[in-house]
Amino acid sequence: MKKIVIAIDGYSACGKSSTAKAVAKSLDYLYLDSGAMYRAITLYFHQHYINLANPKAVENALADVHITFLHNPKIQENETYLNGMNVEDEIRKMYISEKVSETSALPQVRKALVEQQRKLGKKKGVVMDGRDIGTVVFPNAALKIFMIADFNVRVERRQRELLERNHLFNFDEVIENLKKRDFLDTTRKESPLRQAEDAYVIDTTHLTFAEQVDEILNLAIGKMIEEQSPKN
Ligand code: C5P
Repeated sequence: MKKIVIAIDGYSACGKSSTAKAVAKSLDYLYLDSGAMYRAITLYFHQHYINLANPKAVENALADVHITFLHNPKIQENETYLNGMNVEDEIRKMYISEKVSETSALPQVRKALVEQQRKLGKKKGVVMDGRDIGTVVFPNAALKIFMIADFNVRVERRQRELLERNHLFNFDEVIENLKKRDFLDTTRKESPLRQAEDAYVIDTTHLTFAEQVDEILNLAIGKMIEEQSPKN
């Protein structure tokens, strides 16, 4: 079967990453977490006191940021590395979630990451999740998914995730952070979060994890069959 690109976009904590990871595993595709890349840059800017209002400082800092993903055989998953350091856990902490939407709104940051994401997805056979994957990074992706879920369900999911990682947080902080990121991510000038016209909307509010994954796998197989047809 021809390999395709699967783009999964949507709001924070709708279940994008975990679903995308499982879909990639089932299809033996590469999974790429574009949010992790924005988070890693945010961590670097935080560690080096980069002033986001200073374009030259941002540009210089970006030249020093190298993000890679390495497979961890123990957990059978890829982990995010920033300049050779494993930052997979650090970038999920609340202080990064607090800052990431300001960093990701910067045109220079987006330009650098979109370029890298396109390179990583060039060979097809990739599932990438984020905010602008179907609209900007891969506008020709064979399958585009836009995930949504009720706000309260998203809050519960994010809290569960932070608890599982043993990260400190308070309840109101999680609510405020999701609201703030929804607002900043959808209203920014540069590639705001929006549904691509040809995206399938999946509301995960009442779906089990297995149902979410199956729905995407079924759509993916349909698209692969379409791609296989002689006119493609
Ligand atoms: O997916 P995750 O919640 O880890 O993403 C963190 C943040 O990174 C988002 O809130 C958004 O500001 C930014 N992001 C983005 N474009 C993407 C992926 C993430 O702007 N493709």
